[in-house]
Amino acid sequence: MRTNSTYLLFAALLFSIGLSGQKLVVLGTLQDAGSPQLLCEKECCAHPKPNDYVSCLGVIDSTRALLFDATPDIVPQLSELLNRSGTDRFSIFLTHAHVGHYTGLMHLGREAANTRKVPVYAMPRMLEFLAKNGPWNQLLKLQNIVLNGLENGVPRTLDNGVKVEPVLVPHRDEYSETVGYYIKGPNKTALYIPDIDKWTEWEENILGLVPTVDYAFIDGTFFADGEIPRPMSEVPHPFVSESIALLKHLPEADRKKVYFIHLNHSNPAREANFEGRKAAEALGFHFAEFGLEVDL
Ligand SMILES: [Zn+2]
Ligand SMILES: [Zn+2]
Ligand SMILES: [Zn+2]
Repeated sequence: MRTNSTYLLFAALLFSIGLSGQKLVVLGTLQDAGSPQLLCEKECCAHPKPNDYVSCLGVIDSTRALLFDATPDIVPQLSELLNRSGTDRFSIFLTHAHVGHYTGLMHLGREAANTRKVPVYAMPRMLEFLAKNGPWNQLLKLQNIVLNGLENGVPRTLDNGVKVEPVLVPHRDEYSETVGYYIKGPNKTALYIPDIDKWTEWEENILGLVPTVDYAFIDGTFFADGEIPRPMSEVPHPFVSESIALLKHLPEADRKKVYFIHLNHSNPAREANFEGRKAAEALGFHFAEFGLEVDL
């Protein structure tokens, strides 16, 4: 008996070490339109940086990598993810049908990589949008991708042991609903919400959620009101300044879990020496950086 239980314990230990090799990687940090943004002649887009891509996370896994959103920058992003994973197998999870989050699927089609049955996971309206509209429905017809439906609040356990759970968020849902994702590895859980209108419009409480996860990659589109020369109520997001005012009440250990992502080209916090960014970092908050890896 003792030998058996010792063996089982040892096997369980080896198994958990194997699974804990998975990591989450930041593959992009910008709002849908990236930077330099078309026709922007301002300082924010005057000095393009290397690896400055649209908001995207990946799960590094040697059996099957996971990509969260198919952005217009999918070519370098997926290549980086597969190189770090050491595999050419991958699945894609989509948050919603705004241009920065799904149009990268075009690179899977006949004019491009012509992939074979890449699993794409999304919510019902998002799947319907892909199935009913060209050119996306051609990806289905040619079986470049296969669709997998998700349900709000229901975790999906993948072959590699990672659990992915969508959570509906309020957003401008012209073509699809919008979700964030919980990404649960064997040891750690990340929350990814690149787009949400305002925290106050969400039935969940972000202040209560951050302590329950290990990392929170959240909407940092705009730093403060007045940042772009049009009514900002047309494109609502929680300003970084508002999120900080809310989340600064958390203990430091929880504030350190927060990474702002999905920054608009105009967001001054893209610059490391911006005073508002330095003040946020002094409180423990982070701004996501391309290439950052954290354990899952
Ligand atoms: Zn977006
Ligand atoms: Zn710009
Ligand atoms: Zn959006």
